[in-house]
Amino acid sequence: MRLTILLLALSILNLNAQTQTDLSYYLPQNTTYNKSIPTPQSVIGHDVGEWHITHDKLVQYMQALATASNRITIENRGTTYEGRPLLLLTITSPKNHSNLEQIRQSHIASTENNSVNTSDMPIVVYQGFSIHGNEPSGSNAALLAAYHLAAAESKDVTDLLDQTVILFDPSLNPDGLQRFAYWANTNKSENLNPDPNDREYQEVWPGGRTNHYWFDMNRDWLPVQLPESRARIASFHKWLPNILTDHHEMGTNASFFFQPGIPSRTHPLTPKLNQELTKNIGNYHAKALDKIGSLYYTEESFDDFYYGKGSTFPDINGGIGILFEQASSRGHIQESDNGILTFPFTIRNQFTAALSTLEAAKGMREDILNYQHDFYKNARNEASKENGKAIVFGDEKDAAKTYHLAEILERQHIDFHELKSDFTSNGKRFKKGYAFIIPKNQKNTRLINAMFEKRTTFQDSLFYDVSAWTFPLAFGLDYSEGVSTSNAGTKVESLSMKTGTVSSKSNYAYLMEWHEYYSPKALNAILESGLRAKVGMKQFSTNGKSYDYGTILIPVQNQNKSPEDLYRFLQDVAKDSHINIDAVATGLTQGIDLGSNQFRSLEQPKVALIVGDGIRSYDAGEIWHLFDQRYDMRLTKLDTRSLSRVDLSRYNTIILPSGSPNASVAKDLKQWVQNGGTLIGYRSALNWLNSNKFIKLDFKKMELTAKNISFEQRGDFRGAQVVGGAIFEADIDRSHPVNFGYKNEKIALFRNNTMYMNPDKQSYNNPIRYSKNPLLSGYISKPNLDSLALTVPYASKRLGQGRVVAFTDNTNFRAFWYGTNKLLMNAIFFREEL
Ligand SMILES: [Zn+2]
Repeated sequence: MRLTILLLALSILNLNAQTQTDLSYYLPQNTTYNKSIPTPQSVIGHDVGEWHITHDKLVQYMQALATASNRITIENRGTTYEGRPLLLLTITSPKNHSNLEQIRQSHIASTENNSVNTSDMPIVVYQGFSIHGNEPSGSNAALLAAYHLAAAESKDVTDLLDQTVILFDPSLNPDGLQRFAYWANTNKSENLNPDPNDREYQEVWPGGRTNHYWFDMNRDWLPVQLPESRARIASFHKWLPNILTDHHEMGTNASFFFQPGIPSRTHPLTPKLNQELTKNIGNYHAKALDKIGSLYYTEESFDDFYYGKGSTFPDINGGIGILFEQASSRGHIQESDNGILTFPFTIRNQFTAALSTLEAAKGMREDILNYQHDFYKNARNEASKENGKAIVFGDEKDAAKTYHLAEILERQHIDFHELKSDFTSNGKRFKKGYAFIIPKNQKNTRLINAMFEKRTTFQDSLFYDVSAWTFPLAFGLDYSEGVSTSNAGTKVESLSMKTGTVSSKSNYAYLMEWHEYYSPKALNAILESGLRAKVGMKQFSTNGKSYDYGTILIPVQNQNKSPEDLYRFLQDVAKDSHINIDAVATGLTQGIDLGSNQFRSLEQPKVALIVGDGIRSYDAGEIWHLFDQRYDMRLTKLDTRSLSRVDLSRYNTIILPSGSPNASVAKDLKQWVQNGGTLIGYRSALNWLNSNKFIKLDFKKMELTAKNISFEQRGDFRGAQVVGGAIFEADIDRSHPVNFGYKNEKIALFRNNTMYMNPDKQSYNNPIRYSKNPLLSGYISKPNLDSLALTVPYASKRLGQGRVVAFTDNTNFRAFWYGTNKLLMNAIFFREEL
């Protein structure tokens, strides 16, 4: 008892010591600070670490610094979905500032010329903070780092600024940072309470990690689908930084991590020297953290495999990416295995690592600059061996999807060309205007390889994230490697989307094929305006043109618009959705005539998405984003908390993303399906639907027994059975409505789970089926691959008047898996026909 009291007293003492938040706690003692530079406290009204910085105050301070300091300029590179500015500070000596564009051009030239003199060249360092908004010590440390760099008067700092251009990104995720700051601040007590049970440390769904649409933005550096990434990747390519740092947080009981990560899990396209330099940079972090007594570790976790992460993306672009992970206090102070963990302590470690990065940049400047120069020189050598070779990709039926992949190339500074004329390669037809060609002999040839390669053998069998991301497969586009550049037409200088048109005015009917990516957007606009439309269940041809399964028919007669108004309306729809609509003058066709019963009436979808506790926010956010940003379709987000109080009859379709809501909602939801609703479930939600008897699904059980596996190896043994994310081939029955709009007999699916659904006895109920040898790209263990072969990712069954649709795989992965978005849209628009 007495001991407990003593310990308690000691820990309170300790607690006071560690909640000190004035500048002397953080800043190095070997410099004076320029009094004319405002301290964080003087602008934001509180000490760093006393409260969680909100993004608006962060912006306020950065602007104040830029105004006061001739070492800093500031730019706004765009806005987040919630309208917050995406700031970038450029921090360097006033002398460099006066010559900045020249420095930038010389820097870029050094990646393009065969010789370079790095003796006087500044090194370029991109410092980015808190891409996960609820890992806030980074952005809070950014206040201190920016202040220090603006105000410190020591020779160390002025020398540093002479030799370094710092691109300083104080918040990589403004919307997430704001969301988390609100949470931590509103739950803070005057008497800081380290009890982990306190509400302060139990952030509500969906948490501040992600951006507005609940995306993990630290997966988007390669696909660049989100506004925050777009701004950042533009800055990246403008400068090609030598070092890029990415400040994160991890579990409360951990210490501090800096890279290198697990050596065997480095992507093989990354040069060996990159990891050696990373290790040398690590020595600077170790020294700095030793000095303040902070524990840390390296090489035991995290990796450098997926190039879509901030600490790995630079590695395929001649730079060095560094990941930092600080144990998180989540709120202001929390008990941990390492004693009381305070927010200021976490900030100080991040600040210290930010400075040791700059120390390393200065100390290793020439080595790192030469490394980058050699990276591009070697890449040029590789590329020249492929002179005359190119990759072609496209879809003669889908210009929009083709455009969106080209848009990524443009954002990643990869050159591509129009086709000179239509041609066929490997049995695939590529049509001018619907395909692009990428010459291999160009600067970013390694990045091209990283985006287009298919890889099925690996050094390690464990992955921190996905093991494959082959872009043409993600987009479901035809592509062919090793084609001749003689097929290339003019180089694309500014990419633009095809304008959609209506061929002419009709007094009879209009037809719209279903292949284009934005055809669901068009159909939704049509149905939403109260127009009648039908879907063709069979192929037919008219006016010398063949129409595929799923063609949409809009009759002119008996609509709520006059023929003239209908024509004008459809012109707008065609333009907004970049699709072509054909006018037809007769109902007589080769195949089903336009009055045939094989054209089925369509009803406007009224869709709700189940979100909230129990649901995986990433999967839900991807669907919300798809509807809201891509298809302009209204989607009601139904929270699991209020589901039982809602009149579900307003909706004809409900989507249940991966997860399992509380069993209490099952009764209402089932009643709604029985009354005629269509419930679409994804991934782990299928187990919930199965156990709550919405649908009977038959899953294969895979049993694996460890043989000759030691206790020490057990983690790796189990980890090797994880499907972290790979790409698989499935055969499809194109006549089934869930596959309408797909022109090939095979599709590529992304999968990151081990749910193996046995096919139905009736073959026509298995419209999508994994091939016999389904692996296209990525890692999967042999037992899992054997289990996956010939199983099905899709099932649909009636329940009362309604229907339950099941997808074992995520068809909307991370906003860049354009290739399978249509499967969900088909399940929604053609739900009566499944
Ligand atoms: Zn993180």
